[in-house]
Amino acid sequence: KLIVDRYLKKEVLGEGTYGIVFKATDTQTNQTVAIKKIRLGNQKEGINFTALREIKLLKELKDPNIIELIDAFPHKGNLHLVFEFMESDLEAVIRDRNIVLSPADIKSYLQMTLKGLAFCHKKWVLHRDMKPNNLLIASDGQLKLADFGLARLFGSPNPKFTHQVFARWYRAPELLFGSKQYGAGVDVWAAGCIFAELLLRRPFLQGTSDIDQLGKIFAALGTPKPSQWSDMVYLPDYVEYQHVPAPPQRTLFPMASDDALDLLSKMFIYDPKARITAQQALEHRYFTSVPAPTKPLLLPRPP
Ligand code: ADP
Repeated sequence: KLIVDRYLKKEVLGEGTYGIVFKATDTQTNQTVAIKKIRLGNQKEGINFTALREIKLLKELKDPNIIELIDAFPHKGNLHLVFEFMESDLEAVIRDRNIVLSPADIKSYLQMTLKGLAFCHKKWVLHRDMKPNNLLIASDGQLKLADFGLARLFGSPNPKFTHQVFARWYRAPELLFGSKQYGAGVDVWAAGCIFAELLLRRPFLQGTSDIDQLGKIFAALGTPKPSQWSDMVYLPDYVEYQHVPAPPQRTLFPMASDDALDLLSKMFIYDPKARITAQQALEHRYFTSVPAPTKPLLLPRPP
């Protein structure tokens, strides 16, 4: 049966933060797509005009490293978002023990992530919920950021969904301290966590609560001094943590090159105003020094 006379519904792909995702065929183009069905139940009068205007903006966000929003329409009380279908995601790559990631492969995955981020930040759109399973991989090896702008559009994901806890591991310290005026730096922090995860092949900072997450961050990178991050003490949920010095970063990432460690440390600068931007990160010498990033088509992928 066709949805809105156009999409032939196939199997369910999974349940995400905002609702069910299913595979479908776009009968107009014969393209395979993924349709995200977002419940509008909790919104009193369905989808409002502000949301519709923002969805229109997301449809215009076109870049090789951003997953394309092909169509959006309300149907039977749910909002349907139609995206290009993707074969795999970065989480599957990182977890697959049969996959060896060379330094050149890691560089390629990080570069594509930062390219997608820099493009959206230039247009003043934040992701806010970056994690490896939101970085989808197309059949040509291109990595594309999914769910751009959705976090802001639909609010914080429902905490009753257990997978939400994973997002905590990628959350910037200003968010954990309750900042409400955060910016693009939150996505750069998350990209830093993903860079670290590519190097370690396991999530870098696995906090079990928001407080514990901050504890894990400070244990790995040292407690920030107010001189390093002057706005910190004014943040809504700021609490003083016992001071711990930063261990040498070499001990945390024994396999990383000096260039990789230097870039990583700049993505993990505590003060969001001093943190490297996605565009500056792309211009870091890590991306011009050897080895060159692997071409997307040659990247290792799960079977
Ligand atoms: P989450 O909210 O946890 O990030 P999503 O709502 O993005 O999850 O996705 C739910 C499931 O649907 C995941 O298993 C994901 O692999 C799959 N999925 C999401 N978008 C796509 C897509 N464009 N192509 C293929 N599978 C997708």
